[in-house]
Amino acid sequence: MQSKQLLQHMEEQQKNVVEMADAHCHLSILSDAAIIRDSVSYGVRTIITNGVDTPSNIKTLEVADNEHVFPAIGVDPEHALAIEEGSLQKELEFNVNMIRQHVERLVAIGEIGLDYTIGGGPRNVARQKKVFEMFVDLSIELGLPVSVHARNALKDVLAILKEKNAKMVHLHFFEGGLEEAKVALKHGYMISVPPIESSKRKRVIGMMPIGNIMAESDAPVVGQTPKAVEKSIRYIAEIKRMKYEDVAAALTENTKRFFNINLKGSAKMMRY
Ligand SMILES: [Zn+2]
Repeated sequence: MQSKQLLQHMEEQQKNVVEMADAHCHLSILSDAAIIRDSVSYGVRTIITNGVDTPSNIKTLEVADNEHVFPAIGVDPEHALAIEEGSLQKELEFNVNMIRQHVERLVAIGEIGLDYTIGGGPRNVARQKKVFEMFVDLSIELGLPVSVHARNALKDVLAILKEKNAKMVHLHFFEGGLEEAKVALKHGYMISVPPIESSKRKRVIGMMPIGNIMAESDAPVVGQTPKAVEKSIRYIAEIKRMKYEDVAAALTENTKRFFNINLKGSAKMMRY
C-alpha cells in the first residue's frame, strides 16, 4: 500500500474504534440488515429505533436485537391523525398492549408528541393531545422514558410534560430556542441533536451542558443511516470546543444511561 493510502486506511481504522450512539432513528423504514451491520461496525454500537404506528411498531420489535439496536414504540402525531375516528380506540389499545407485553425490552415509549405543522383545526389538536397524554401517562406508570417529537408545538409539549411531572424525557430533534432549552434543562430533560446545523441550534448546544445532550441521525428521514450521528457529534464538538472522541464518549454514555441500555441489553429477547 502506498503511504497515502495506508494513512487513509489507518484513519478509517481509528474512526472505527470511536464508539457512537444514535438516540433516535427509524430502522423499521430502512429495514436492511446490511445497513444496520455496517452502522454497528462503523462504531454506532447503540441505536435507538422508533416506531410511529402499528405496522412500524411491529417491525421495530423485529429489527431490534437488544444488543446494538434497541426498540422504542409509540404512535406519533401524524399517525394519530391518520387513524379513522371509529378505530382510534381499538388501535391505541392494540399499541398499549404491545408496549405492556414488551416492556422489558423497550427502552422508551416513542415516537410520540405534538406536531402543529400537520392537520390543523382544534379537533386535530385535541386528538394529538389526547394520544400524547395517554402515552405519557403510560410511560410514568411503566417507568419508561419518553422520546418526544415537537414541531411548532414545543410550548404545549413542555406544559403537558410538566403538568404530568414526567421525569425521563427525551426531546428528539430539539428545535427550541434558548428559553425553551432552559426550561428543558431545569426539568432535567435530554435533548438530541440531528445532523443539521442552524444558528438557533448552535446557541442551544452552546448553553446546554454536555450531560443533557445526545446525538441522533433520525435516519432515514434526515440522515441516511445511523452513521450520520457522526456529523451531529462533530458539530457539537466544534461548538463545545471539545475533542471529537471525548464528545462521542460523553454522548454515548448519556444515551446508555438515559435509555438504561445495560439493563435492556440483558432483557430476554422476545420478538413480536
Ligand atoms: Zn423520528
